[in-house]
Formats: sequence, C-alpha cells, structure tokens
Amino acid sequence: VNEFAFTDDPFSKMNKLKARLLANENPLGISPAAKEALCKAAESGNRYAWTEFGQLKKLIADDELVTPETIMLSPGSSDILMASADYFAKNGGTILTSAMTYDDLLDRSAKFGAKIVSVPMTKDYKFDLATIKSKITPDVKLVYLVNPNNPTGTVVPTAELESFIREVAPKVPVFLDEAYIDFYEPAARPKLGKLVAEGQNVILARTFSKIHGFAGLRLGYAIAKPELLKAIKPYTNGEFAVSITTLMAGIASYQDKDWQNHCRAENAKARDYTSKALADMGYEVIPSSANFILFPIRMKTKTFSNAMFANGIGIQTRDFDGQPYCRVSIGTMDEMTAFIDSFKKVVG
Ligand code: PLP
Repeated sequence: VNEFAFTDDPFSKMNKLKARLLANENPLGISPAAKEALCKAAESGNRYAWTEFGQLKKLIADDELVTPETIMLSPGSSDILMASADYFAKNGGTILTSAMTYDDLLDRSAKFGAKIVSVPMTKDYKFDLATIKSKITPDVKLVYLVNPNNPTGTVVPTAELESFIREVAPKVPVFLDEAYIDFYEPAARPKLGKLVAEGQNVILARTFSKIHGFAGLRLGYAIAKPELLKAIKPYTNGEFAVSITTLMAGIASYQDKDWQNHCRAENAKARDYTSKALADMGYEVIPSSANFILFPIRMKTKTFSNAMFANGIGIQTRDFDGQPYCRVSIGTMDEMTAFIDSFKKVVG
C-alpha cells in the first residue's frame, strides 16, 4: 500500500511527506542561537515573560527607525491579520485588494459582512496600485497589500509602494503584509517604517515564520502608530499570547544575521535551480522574490496535486481565471530535486 495514496484530504499525510513544499516554511530549521536560547528558556518557563517584550521591541525599533511604542508583538502575524479584519470590517464596508493574494484577512473580513473588491493583477502578476487607487470610495475601510505577494512571489517597486501609501493612507488605512520581506537582499529591503514614524495610517505586518523558521514557535509583530495599535489590540489575543520560550528564541534569532543570510542564500539557490528546471521543460515561472514559486500547469489542479502527493511531494495548487497553477515552496536542494523528478513523472 502506498501510504501517500489517498482519496480524502492530502494534507492529512503532511508529516509523512518526502518533501513538504506546501506551507512556505524554512526547510533549514531555526538558527543555532535560537535553539540555544530555547533550551535556556526552558529554565524560565515558570516565570511570566516581562522584560523580554521590551528587549525584542527595542531591537526591531532600532532597525526600523521607529519607537518601541509603534510595535505590537503577536503569536505569528495571523493574529494581527485577524484582529485587523475584525476591527476594520466590523461595520461592513469594503476591503480593497488585488486578485490572487493571501486570503486570510479577506476571508475573515467577508465573514463579518465586508465586501471584498479584488482588482485584477498586472500582466506580470503584480499588485496594480494605480487601479486600486482608482477604486477608492468612501465605503472602503481598508486596503490590503502583500509585498512580496503570496502566492505570486512578485514585488512592487519600493518607491511606488511608498508613494501609494503617502497618497492613499490619509484617506483609507493601508495594511501592508510583509510576511516575506526578509527574502529581499538587505540592501534592497523596503524601509517603510518611516511612514509609521511620520504618523501615516499604515500597518506593517511581519512574521518570524519564514526566514527565522518560527512557523511552529509562533512570533510576529505589527508596526503602526500607537492609535492604530490601540484600535486593533482589543481584537488580538494580547501580547501575553507569546510564550517566553518563543520570545527568548526570537531575540536570539533576530540578532543572528549570519543564519538569516545563510537561509536567504540557500533559498535563492534552490529557487533558481527549480525555476530553471521548470523553464527548461517549457513552463513559465513567475519570477519570485520569496520562498515559493507559482507557475501555470497543464493539468487539472486536483489530478496534479493527488499525483504529486502520491509521490510524497506536498505542494499547493490554485485555480485562477480558469487557469490551474502550482505553488511550490522552496525546500532544500534535495527536496527540490525530488520535486522536479516527481513533476517530470507526473506531467509525463
Ligand atoms: N501573511 C502571508 C502573506 C502569509 O503567507 C502568511 C503565512 O504563510 C501569513 C501572513 C501568516 O503567517 P504567520 O501567522 O505564521 O505569521
């Protein structure tokens, strides 16, 4: 019996996969310094976290050129996304975004009765900021942007993003989900904390789940002016939802730039290998600036997904405008080789 064969939910076999390339996780694990901090934190498990919140906020604030009062920690950025959806959509209205982006905040807003308006992406699968701007009406309660975007992996030039926020935020708050920002080369990394320091109506959402490998440990944060954080806070689980183990590990990981550089470089190497192998087979891979790639496939998503999972390769699929796509997270080089081998078998 092939234990990866299934007829029900492929994700139920998640922990048994040969290559788990479906959740944009860090395949290299957490930093050695974070591991050490985790073990040390076990000794403090009987104590409430206290000064550690301030320590981490100070580190982030210094890098982002903002004050610690503009940072709110959370157990992963999902809590910030959900709380923002609750707050901004509680009286209905419209949430404006682009088609084909991360759905969590949007789905939650829709549950609260908000209308989601998703404008088409540009031909190169980017957020179409000009069209989004043209759709702003008094009914729009929030603009949701993701940069780098999930699932396309595309980025909008930082200067465009900055001028969009300066123009739009005085009218409508902008939520900029920067879950994948750490995959930018440090010199190219957008530094939009300055917009928060200026008092703009913008929320930057960050996570340790990606380059830091904290998807299971759960750590994220929002950067926004104190009035905005105060508005969202009642809808969050509160900062105490972050454990002392995660906080201490997060403080260590944040300062371990060598590990981040290593993970970024390995990700780029494996991403380039995968993109080239697919291009060599005639597939049009959307250029990605993150730890996953998206490309159109020539099979029904369910058939493709089932066949890949049956080979022990976990991926995700999307159907968009009648076109099926595969989204594959970037794993280790071995995992990506296994992905390409399986892909060749599946597509014939
Ligand atoms: N935002 C985006 C764009 C994501 O892709 C994800 C997770 O993959 C999240 C937010 C939430 O991540 P977490 O709650 O682990 O921080």
